[in-house]
Amino acid sequence: MVFRFRIPSHWRAKPFRYRLIVYRCEDCGMVHQYPAIICRKCRSTRLRHTQLPQTAKLLSFTVVRQAPVGFEELAPYIVGVVEFEDGTRLVTQLTDCEPEELKIGMEVEAVVRKITQDGPSGLIIYGFKFRPRIV
Ligand SMILES: [Zn+2]
Repeated sequence: MVFRFRIPSHWRAKPFRYRLIVYRCEDCGMVHQYPAIICRKCRSTRLRHTQLPQTAKLLSFTVVRQAPVGFEELAPYIVGVVEFEDGTRLVTQLTDCEPEELKIGMEVEAVVRKITQDGPSGLIIYGFKFRPRIV
């Protein structure tokens, strides 16, 4: 059996995947998705973890019909760019809706969903996706 996902990297990604925890540089403001010792942009070591809000604004989206390896069973699916209130932007999958229901500028909220599975008996990867906000 060949595993596409490495368990250690999966565990390092858990704070981001499940709780939207990011690492913001206190000197230049760059946001790092995964724990880092130094900032990739300015080389500062002053990184502070912070949690992104659970809601964001939809900036753009598209429907993926030719999925990359590992995501074939999900196609077609919707990928979009969302922006949080602090200006942080994120490329993410949109779920629980049809493309016709999406409007640029609408509010979306984070939900945890299955992302993919490493073969029929492999690791199941969960993480956040965004859906139209339910009020
Ligand atoms: Zn920096």
